[in-house]
Amino acid sequence: MRLLLIGAPGSGKGTQAGKLAERFGIAHISSGDLLRQHVQDQTAIGRTIKSYLDRGDLVPNTVVMDMLRKPVVAAVEAGGYVLDGFPRTVEQAQASFPTARSLGAEVQAAIHLDVPSEELVRRLLARRRGSDDTEAVIERRLQVYLDMTVPLLDYYADREWKFAVDGTQAPDAVHEDIVAGLKKLALPG
Ligand code: ATP
Ligand code: MG
Repeated sequence: MRLLLIGAPGSGKGTQAGKLAERFGIAHISSGDLLRQHVQDQTAIGRTIKSYLDRGDLVPNTVVMDMLRKPVVAAVEAGGYVLDGFPRTVEQAQASFPTARSLGAEVQAAIHLDVPSEELVRRLLARRRGSDDTEAVIERRLQVYLDMTVPLLDYYADREWKFAVDGTQAPDAVHEDIVAGLKKLALPG
């Protein structure tokens, strides 16, 4: 099973990806977690990554795609993935599609976790994690979502394998809605 989770910062992507990974025995691959790991491990590219994260800006495509290639290929071989945070832009979706196709590993469902802005701001302010979660950076990340990721949702709008769930519900209810949506697509669940 190969799934994408698309949602704003604070929409619950990490939580839902974890539940899906466990339920279906697939790998949870979070672009944000992998990027933060680079910063923490002080890798060669870590300092560059940190400058983007600290501003709330997107990390350049090449960095993100180079970082994801290995884990995604490994996950495909091992039975599937739920990608949390990638693709995040139309450009990333277009750039990664040929690779996915050549691996026979095109995405089977894209799930939009729909949460209104007021709720996102409330959640993000409530869970500030440190340097990347000052009020100004939260605002910046939400603006980047509106500018860069909402167009991705429009780009996928008429694909039958894209669906939205109400992300304001309790985590277990969101999960059950996702599973129901996957069933409608005749994916296992
Ligand atoms: P949440 O906190 O709800 O999991 P988020 O969108 O705030 O969602 P992450 O997905 O963890 O957090 O991403 C954190 C940061 O990592 C982003 O603000 C961005 O700078 C960078 N990032 C993550 N994925 C990508 C990507 N696909 N392309 C470019 N930058 C990315
Ligand atoms: Mg995350």
